[in-house]
Amino acid sequence: MGFEDVKKLWMNGRLVDFADAKVHVFTHVIHYGSGVFEGIRCYKTARGPAVFRLNEHTERLYNSAHIYRMEIPFTRDEFKAAVLDTIRANEFDACYIRPLAYRGFQSLGVNPFPCPVDVFIGVWKWGKYLGPEAVEQGVDVCVSSWTRMAPNTFPAMAKTTANYANSQLVKMEALVNGYSEGIVLDVDGYVSEGSGENIFIVRGGKLLTPPLGASVLPGVTRDSVITIARDLGYEVQEASIPREMLYISDEVFFTGTAAEITPIRSIDKIKIGEGKRGSVTERLQKEFFAIVNGTIEDRFAWLTPVPVSVAAKS
Ligand code: PMP
Repeated sequence: MGFEDVKKLWMNGRLVDFADAKVHVFTHVIHYGSGVFEGIRCYKTARGPAVFRLNEHTERLYNSAHIYRMEIPFTRDEFKAAVLDTIRANEFDACYIRPLAYRGFQSLGVNPFPCPVDVFIGVWKWGKYLGPEAVEQGVDVCVSSWTRMAPNTFPAMAKTTANYANSQLVKMEALVNGYSEGIVLDVDGYVSEGSGENIFIVRGGKLLTPPLGASVLPGVTRDSVITIARDLGYEVQEASIPREMLYISDEVFFTGTAAEITPIRSIDKIKIGEGKRGSVTERLQKEFFAIVNGTIEDRFAWLTPVPVSVAAKS
């Protein structure tokens, strides 16, 4: 997974060696899924490493904590500085960033309130999530037999570790049946998202993506693609998508920090469009990768450069 290059992690305000970044087995989060987290990417650019949409990821992390009555004991600015420090301490020019705020070691009742809120930030090198070819060739996926959690069960807008129990069922079922990923429907039978990605369809040149009411995570990449697509002149709508509309779309693609923009070439062994990456998906990918790699102007101010500091290297 690329952990061998990791030198330091940030835990509760200080950088610690990889080998020392440990928790006790009585830590609350291990038992009850009481953690909120983020997945963020830092991209290599000609001007040095740059974190993609750090402000938006920070906001979502603090919102997730707020939903779960969890007080993160660091300000947003302290948190953002810690993310940059962690990248710098590992001297990475590109990496994946995993912050997690969780209920720590104190007592093991379901009630999380007695437990401290601990925070760590880990970084590691992570390539293409759905395989090296996926971004160009597209992936073969299925519609899961599992349903996404209903809105009044687990809040989908909070990125909590607990939600990934559902995601793991979806992912494992897809993998054992020979697919790269599963698409999960919401409690009403409409398309929700992938196990770790939002989803878009293209029909007649227009883009559609499920609304937040369809138990989707408010994806930062989802928002980026909506913004880029509208800027390029495409119409984008958030709308309920019946399952069968997937099969008759011209193009379907996933978006996510890990998956970036990944075309879907078949669903349930039904060919989507021409069974390869479509032209709209390709156009959006080109623009997205040009922005994140810093080869065109960062016109939406999405990149935060990682400042170089000699002191942090020692
Ligand atoms: N949905 C789920 C369930 C996810 O885990 C992710 C990945 N964080 C996404 C959507 C995409 O969100 P983002 O673009 O912010 O990574």
